[in-house]
Amino acid sequence: MLDAYSRMNPPPLYRRQYQHQQQIFEVLIKRSRRKTLAIHVLRTGLVEIRAPLQCAWLQIDDFLEARLDWIVAAIQQLANSPLPEAPAYCDGEYHDYLGQPHQLLLVRGKPSQVVVGAGQLLVQCAAPSDPQQVRQCLLKFWRQRALLVLDERLRDCRAHFDQVPAVAALIQRKVALSGESANAAGKLTIRRMRARWGSCSRGGDICLNAALVQKPTVAIDMVIIHELCHLHHFSHSKAFYGLMDAAMPGWRDHEGLLNQPSWRRQTVLV
Ligand SMILES: [Zn+2]
Repeated sequence: MLDAYSRMNPPPLYRRQYQHQQQIFEVLIKRSRRKTLAIHVLRTGLVEIRAPLQCAWLQIDDFLEARLDWIVAAIQQLANSPLPEAPAYCDGEYHDYLGQPHQLLLVRGKPSQVVVGAGQLLVQCAAPSDPQQVRQCLLKFWRQRALLVLDERLRDCRAHFDQVPAVAALIQRKVALSGESANAAGKLTIRRMRARWGSCSRGGDICLNAALVQKPTVAIDMVIIHELCHLHHFSHSKAFYGLMDAAMPGWRDHEGLLNQPSWRRQTVLV
């Protein structure tokens, strides 16, 4: 059972190693404001247990131990199945929203719309069995969400950029050395882009990929801060990366988050 302190401040993450049928695997326990226990087996072999904040450790152990055979079979099944090349836009597939996997629930109906719920994306359209139609609904939804989320993240990142003393010092030094002031920040455009997460024009206009809204906030901020650094250094010079390091120390740790969509991680859920 959780003690009084843990009950008030439950540890959000807990990791431990298990061995069953000669298969060694790592279990990550994530507590959140959910109501039920769930297991996700990731392609990497990591087993995630999602648990309610107040769930007793004993209950989590019982839940896990009753499913050890299934977990080992799921790890082996994922290891032997080929990586999907593209999402199928089918019922039950996982797609990320703000870095969290959400399962597609496809229903027939009008108007076409996407409703986000706890761990679910309800996609309503005239022909839910048509992957193209589901894809179009989702693209429209990502764009609508991106307009709100990315604009807010840009405002927060700009405020952060202006507040970090190390960033201000580097910018002042650059201006003193070169005599050039920074590009004024221009307008923000949100677009679907195939090969880039963001770009910054010489005039200071920033363009962000609408698909960023599927990524965790920290990855979104990393892309935005990258573009804000381009307002001061247009090329990827040493000085550019110096500014990036000052504005977001450890940003390299988040780069991988941009390349792992849910449908490719192939989660198996129970
Ligand atoms: Zn760049």
